[in-house]
Amino acid sequence: MAPEECIAALGGWEGYELCGWRQERRGEGSWCVLRLRRDRRRPAYCSGCWREAPALHDTEWRTVRDLPMFEHAVELEIPPVRVACPHCGPKLELLGWLDPYARVTKRLAESVSRLCAVMSIRHVADYFGLNWKTVKNIDKRALERRLGPVDLKGVTVIGMDEFAIQRGHRYATVVIEPARKRVLWVGRERSREGIRPFFTLLGPEGCSALEAVVMDMNGAFEQEVRAQAPQAQIVYDLFHVVAKYGREVIDRVRVDEANRLRTDRQARRLVKGSRWLLLRNRENVTREADQVRLKELLAANRALMITYVLKDDLKELWSYRHEGYARRFWNGWYRRAMRSRIEPLKAFARKLRAYLPGLLAHCRYPLHTSVLEGINNKIKVIKRMAYGFRDDEYFFLKIRAAFPGIG
Ligand SMILES: [Zn+2]
Repeated sequence: MAPEECIAALGGWEGYELCGWRQERRGEGSWCVLRLRRDRRRPAYCSGCWREAPALHDTEWRTVRDLPMFEHAVELEIPPVRVACPHCGPKLELLGWLDPYARVTKRLAESVSRLCAVMSIRHVADYFGLNWKTVKNIDKRALERRLGPVDLKGVTVIGMDEFAIQRGHRYATVVIEPARKRVLWVGRERSREGIRPFFTLLGPEGCSALEAVVMDMNGAFEQEVRAQAPQAQIVYDLFHVVAKYGREVIDRVRVDEANRLRTDRQARRLVKGSRWLLLRNRENVTREADQVRLKELLAANRALMITYVLKDDLKELWSYRHEGYARRFWNGWYRRAMRSRIEPLKAFARKLRAYLPGLLAHCRYPLHTSVLEGINNKIKVIKRMAYGFRDDEYFFLKIRAAFPGIG
């Protein structure tokens, strides 16, 4: 077999044959340029309607990137072939290995999108020597094709969460199906109007099938769910309540304590630098030095000790599966909070009491908060990898792709 035939056979550019090749240096890299011409004996098919049509041969050549070969980047020079379709008019020929108007072959596009699942756009672009915009568009089209419209049949329990696109400026909402760890929908905004399109997509039948909606204590989400699916039980999830406790109680008590210790510089510094230590789950404080610091900190500060212990205890509320017992536990917790004489804690407990039905509903709809927390963390990773390019649609597709669902 002649070398050209060998390359043509390995290349597999169906309908085309190799008619020349050359090697070039471009900057740092070596390029292999393959010239292909169409096999005139082959029938041509219209890319619009997939029907056979007489081929017209254009004379202009265009270049298309293919997968690299050995250490060489590969570029194909091909004459685009149009068909004179009686149904569609002049159209590009349908090819199995190249989409109409694409600048890269299908297999290169596939490799790009596969790598984009685990690497940043910039790294993939560097690796293939492609422009980052090209890489992003390839991945975006691949995701659109792969994900398609979401199937909302049989969805009865959903979770809603917000996340920052630009902290303090723009927020978005993600709707998930916790049981299947599936992202159902991502939309701009976190307002009632912003999340309404999801309920429109779900339709009246889907809305009336909703049994429970797990969420943060967020007024807008709750109001919209009550309007769209009044029968659905609102459930507040542990992850958000504990995060809120951290912000509204622990952080404030810590600042108050630091102010109180104005004259004792060393104690003040210990309290001020303890934010991370106090907000972390106790089981995640694993270094011995940190454990000792935490112990000393709590032993020396009554208010911090109480707020810390009550945080740990509050989490237990989500371990109950029986509402009666959960309510009794809550009453005990509430009494301790109110007797603490710590104002931020009392204010939080009072606020939480107003949400009690949604807290206790967790007994009937136990959701592992690791689902929401995991999605939250993953979104941050995706943002670092795929964002910076200011394309919300692409960003949201990446989020959906990361949680395609199990089972
Ligand atoms: Zn046609």
